[in-house]
Amino acid sequence: MPEGHTIHRAARLQNKRFKGKELQSESPQGRFVSGASLVDGRKLKKIHANGKHLFYEFDSGDFVHVHLGLFGKFRTHALPTDDPVSENCRWLVTTDTDRLHLTGPTVCEVINIEQVESIRHRLGPDPLVKRHKDDPVEKLAKRLSRRSIPIGAAILDQKVIAGLGNVYRAEILYLIGLDPFTPANEVGEAHLSALWAESIRLLTLGEKAGRIVTTDPSDVGKKRSSDLGRYERLYCYKRQGEQCRRCGDTIRTANIDGRNIWWCPTEQT
Ligand SMILES: [Zn+2]
Repeated sequence: MPEGHTIHRAARLQNKRFKGKELQSESPQGRFVSGASLVDGRKLKKIHANGKHLFYEFDSGDFVHVHLGLFGKFRTHALPTDDPVSENCRWLVTTDTDRLHLTGPTVCEVINIEQVESIRHRLGPDPLVKRHKDDPVEKLAKRLSRRSIPIGAAILDQKVIAGLGNVYRAEILYLIGLDPFTPANEVGEAHLSALWAESIRLLTLGEKAGRIVTTDPSDVGKKRSSDLGRYERLYCYKRQGEQCRRCGDTIRTANIDGRNIWWCPTEQT
């Protein structure tokens, strides 16, 4: 599943092509025909990203809400293009110069501002959103304080923190030295602040690069991030049985909430 950095990157890149333009909107697959026609010919004011949700704000006051889920995929093209429109294309958006092609989303619907606000309200703080109404670390602490489930499970819950998926949760807990099985309500303030700071740092890097890289090049004997090979970009995700890049202990894995997590038992306590 795409993590938050992918969604924010999609919003930024799509805004460059479509923001401020009148869009032709249709649903070649047929499952979003009435929604697509509601915003057809309308001007797109802006695309907003919150956690793993995208909101396309139109000048009519309508919003198209998209959640990619496991299989959703965008393709963008400059026009003209030879790339064919898929029969599974849920939403097809075109301007004179560009085209946006969406397949397989979990959610693609037209909603109003109250519904947008209600979705945002349910989400935990998003490390890639710059302005927060409340202190994000306090909000995080509050949302964890009622949960005794392992912190590794809690931070995948989008109501706790918005945008983390399975790769980032393992890497962030590694980098802050926290055992993923620590009960969420026993995580101290210092760890929570570190969790928030690392989330901002790593997701920002991921949003810029379009991929997840968490390793410090010096930990794999390289000088620059650009020198990192495909298997050198992460500390523990899917590295069970291999040596920790920092201490040499064996990286472990376990099922924590129906999904696997990876960690270093020496450094994460
Ligand atoms: Zn280690």
